[in-house]
Amino acid sequence: KESGKASWVRFEPQMRQDMAHHARLASELHNAIVRGELRLVYQPVFDLRTGLPSGAEALVRWQHPERGFVSPADFIPVAERSGLIVPLGSWVLREACEQLARWRAEFGDEAIPSINVNVAVRQLREAGFVDEVAAVLSETGLTSGNLIIEVTESSVVDGWQVRETLQSLHEMGVQLALDDFGTGQSSLSLLRAFPVDVLKLDKSFVDGIADGADRGRLAVAAAVAQLAEYLQLKAVAEGIENVEQLERLREMGYRYGQGYLMAKPLPAEECGKLMSAAPAHVF
Ligand code: C2E
Ligand code: MG
Ligand code: MG
Ligand code: MG
Repeated sequence: KESGKASWVRFEPQMRQDMAHHARLASELHNAIVRGELRLVYQPVFDLRTGLPSGAEALVRWQHPERGFVSPADFIPVAERSGLIVPLGSWVLREACEQLARWRAEFGDEAIPSINVNVAVRQLREAGFVDEVAAVLSETGLTSGNLIIEVTESSVVDGWQVRETLQSLHEMGVQLALDDFGTGQSSLSLLRAFPVDVLKLDKSFVDGIADGADRGRLAVAAAVAQLAEYLQLKAVAEGIENVEQLERLREMGYRYGQGYLMAKPLPAEECGKLMSAAPAHVF
């Protein structure tokens, strides 16, 4: 079903195993939400010109009692297929906004300007999503400008149904970031159709940047920066791991960046300290 209506695939034993695995994971994930096994960690986003943090992205973690750490790359797709992403996503949104409110109370409103929350397209399709966002913002005392919603470029490619929702959020003042940008298939038409504020260049393009061997990826990275400039969008590069990448991205015009070079995803307390300790943070 995932590969579209007009295609078919052979049903292999491996797929039966995958399905059983997914079913088990889905039921365990349900328990995880109820039992509170999910946590958020936060990865700062830096302004590459000043070295100052401009905000943080909330990333969900699952500490399973027997399996140990389960990666979101594994359980988010399961949550999306089972529909559990809706309650999971609601929890993430509220928790992330509450955390920003706590940071602002502790370190001042200027210290950490915004929070990025990843949202699945499934959540955007829920009728009450816009109201939910408005309620969470007002209950946590944040303003809409404090929230950046990240949706993956590929998830909204055929998401014409969610356009109205994104438009309403935009009118409210919530910012929209296209995540994993460059990996989707209709980037340019999306930019015209959706009220986009931020482009997040996918890590895969950052990976090959420094050695210069991969002209194709280099070209995409450069083109995305140009596109952002012309359209007056914020350009963020994700997954920066070394200084060469950082320098090249800066030259290309990336104003913002995220990556292990600057900071890994951190528990809330550490992230708050790191961000409020700026401008000591120079790279
Ligand atoms: P994403 O939103 O594109 O997040 C970036 C991912 O890259 C994160 O992985 C982050 O830890 C990782 N990363 C950041 N900098 C570096 C780096 O320098 N090197 C390397 N190797 N990795 C880096 P993570 O936390 O495992 O999340 C994976 C994906 O799962 C996210 O990709 C996002 O699509 C999804 N996800 C995570 N949390 C949520 C959530 O609360 N809701 C939804 N819907 N999706 C989420
Ligand atoms: Mg993201
Ligand atoms: Mg991304
Ligand atoms: Mg990604």
